Amino acid sequence: MSLLPVKDAIERILAPFHPLEKIHIPLDEAVGRILAEDIRATTDIPPFDNSSMDGFALLASDVTQAGATTPITLVVVDDIPAGKMPKKEIVRGETARIMTGAPLPLGANAIVPVEETDCNQRTAGAPLPERVQILKAARLGENIRKRGDDIHCGQNILSRGQRLRAQDLGMLAMLGIAQVPVSRKPRVALLSSGDELTPIGESLVAGKIYDVNSYTLRALLEAAGCEIISLGVAEDTPKSVKAALENAKDVDLILSSAGVSMGSFDFIKTVIEEEGVLNFWRANMRPGKPLTFGNYKNMPFIGLAGNPVSAFVGFMVFVQPVIQKMLGSNAQAQSRVRTLLAEPVQSDGRESYLRAKVYREDGQFYARLTGHQGSGNLFSMVQANALLIIPAGVKSLPKGAEVEAWLLENIS
Ligand code: AMP
Ligand code: MG
Repeated sequence: MSLLPVKDAIERILAPFHPLEKIHIPLDEAVGRILAEDIRATTDIPPFDNSSMDGFALLASDVTQAGATTPITLVVVDDIPAGKMPKKEIVRGETARIMTGAPLPLGANAIVPVEETDCNQRTAGAPLPERVQILKAARLGENIRKRGDDIHCGQNILSRGQRLRAQDLGMLAMLGIAQVPVSRKPRVALLSSGDELTPIGESLVAGKIYDVNSYTLRALLEAAGCEIISLGVAEDTPKSVKAALENAKDVDLILSSAGVSMGSFDFIKTVIEEEGVLNFWRANMRPGKPLTFGNYKNMPFIGLAGNPVSAFVGFMVFVQPVIQKMLGSNAQAQSRVRTLLAEPVQSDGRESYLRAKVYREDGQFYARLTGHQGSGNLFSMVQANALLIIPAGVKSLPKGAEVEAWLLENIS
């Protein structure tokens, strides 16, 4: 069987998936979700002219001569706390005490902070002085936040496909948007299989190992924004696999690991093909070469290779893009950087995803492998902060060669 280029495998896997429907959810549940519509401002922000300081609202022309030794006295006609509308228009010779965020009274065109007056009293409800001495001149518009300074009504604020962060939620709140249009979470059924797999919490019988992939794949799915339906661990019997698959109902994807090496594949194929289709591919990559793809009861099925690193890398390469597509996400799932090799690397000519530590020195990224690159060596994955991508056809690269790296985390 020939090796399928990774790019072609990704294309074939992506083809049957479509963006999921849009739903509206409360703003306080929206962090990390993918926005399903562009958001335009329905109002100016700030919505009205207001003060950026605790101070006195006045006419700048009244205080052009004001100074520490040449105070100008104004009559205080109003007291404007935040959240209240001014009661008076300010005319020549007058001023109003005003708090940060309070609406600017008509007539006023500058704010002098309390520190620049003889009345440094800002406690709400504190008695209003009849007069105040202004100790500093003010520029026109000084300490005033103008309506629409930040955002104009109608302006595009957030874009469809972006992942909502804390500051985006704040922005939506500022616009009074209580229900946010987001993509529904993909529902993914997760299956591990193998007679040797023991759930954590149980003691290991000789010859058995703990189930690893359920945990890594669940964590990756969760981080990617999915809802997970656990199908548990199936034994290597058609009956057990079938029973596990029974619990996959109305899911957008069934994701399984293991059972793709030739021997065990046969019965998984038989089980799936009773109610669907299953294709076995050998992708031209390392790790994660064996790969299955098809559908079961009309639900798409992706089967990743079983070794822990193969399952992880297979997820990154094949499953991550599927989830991004379903979510309509335009967020970059992995940031890619060009790095220089700090040591020579060997490959076998397949497109290789090597576990590496990328670090920065004098503004340049360098990469060093983190150890054994076997598909079961999870420890080198644990020590890695990046996957180096060695293109197909390349068997060795010298120290100093430039390669692309997928960063798995931020690098300081
Ligand atoms: P298989 O494709 O079933 O032959 O699995 C390939 C290798 O991956 C075997 O060494 C399995 O023991 C191992 N493996 C499969 N699934 C898991 C899992 N969930 N956790 C840890 N190792 C696994
Ligand atoms: Mg197995």
